[in-house]
Amino acid sequence: MRLPKFTYRTPRTIAEAVKIISDTGPEAQFVAGGTDLYPNMKRRQQMPKTVISVMRLPELNQITGDGKSGLVIGASMILTEIVEHPIIKRDYPVISAAARTISTPILRNMGTIGGNLLLDTRCNYYDQNYEWRKAINFCLKKDGEVCWVAPGSAKCWAVQSSDLVPVMVALGAKFRLVSTAGERMIDADQFYNDDGIDYLKKRPDELLVDIHLPPTDGWRASYQKLRRRGAFDFPVLGVAAYVKYDACAGERVVIDARIILGGIAPSPVLVTEAAQVLRGNPLNDDHIQAAAEAAYIKARPLDNTDFVYQWRKQMARQYTIRALTELCD
Ligand SMILES: Cc1cc2nc3c(=O)[nH]c(=O)nc-3n(C[C@H](O)[C@H](O)[C@H](O)COP(=O)(O)OP(=O)(O)OC[C@H]3O[C@@H](n4cnc5c(N)ncnc54)[C@H](O)[C@@H]3O)c2cc1C
Ligand code: SF4
Repeated sequence: MRLPKFTYRTPRTIAEAVKIISDTGPEAQFVAGGTDLYPNMKRRQQMPKTVISVMRLPELNQITGDGKSGLVIGASMILTEIVEHPIIKRDYPVISAAARTISTPILRNMGTIGGNLLLDTRCNYYDQNYEWRKAINFCLKKDGEVCWVAPGSAKCWAVQSSDLVPVMVALGAKFRLVSTAGERMIDADQFYNDDGIDYLKKRPDELLVDIHLPPTDGWRASYQKLRRRGAFDFPVLGVAAYVKYDACAGERVVIDARIILGGIAPSPVLVTEAAQVLRGNPLNDDHIQAAAEAAYIKARPLDNTDFVYQWRKQMARQYTIRALTELCD
């Protein structure tokens, strides 16, 4: 599979990068490590005429702050640096642990945190070469008129398959976006649309500059990933759990909680019922079981990625138990 022809630009400042994309219009696209975009271009799923690298923008290549003040991670930081960074390992270990599960060491040396948070949605009928897709007359997501997963549906159900997305939503991260029109911050939990085609709230001309994490004041988080091969594979279920404790009459109780399911729908799924069960209670077996039951009920995976989807639904219960158990004392 060959890349189509394109013009490659390497701006050195944010102002230059957003000017290029604003002048070039919808035919242009940003690229970071290219580990998602270039395979997509080879498969003719995305066909930008101009590709603008974000790897030489200094502001996107830095990490500032710590767990006390909150951390700001530049979008072009490669995943290997996220895995190995001493402050991330010490203060936000869930991020380095989740990043460690992404693809392979070689791909983590290329792929960035920003590219991971903006990953294209995935589906067995879409992640195929051009000829394969042509043989089934394409599908709604690209060049076709029918969704092969749900033929009666007007919506694409391709799956949000990033490992860091559920973690960022669970932690309450914010993303900073910049364009020639200005700058805005958006909460990670507001950033993803439940639509496999229009999956981001980001406009194509907006550059993701950095990710803002809250201070680590008494919360803990964990991430559990289901995949076929332990060596490398996309998640077909990812459970991110976040709890904040407080002492109450001598007992530590959960005062805030978030359970996020990834890899099963076009956007990360917030299990509000699980949080309700946990809040105001100690994190013990009974409450973990009840939260896991809520995750099982909320999980509705479709038959468009690896493994039997009913089994992935069952696993939502088990993986929620694992994620919460990791957070017990
Ligand atoms: C074999 C293989 C296995 C993989 N396994 C996993 C896995 O297990 N888990 C997982 O989560 N991912 C996996 N991936 C996907 C991918 O490698 C990672 O998600 C990686 O982090 C993507 O980052 P990138 O910098 O290469 O993104 P790119 O390909 O450069 O970009 C991805 C998208 O983000 C946009 N973009 C990038 N940076 C910016 C920016 N700063 N502002 C605006 N837009 C931007 C691009 O336009 C593109 O649309 C795998 C990929 C491969 C090929
Ligand atoms: S969910 Fe349907 S429309 Fe979306 S990629 Fe898969 S087959 Fe295509």
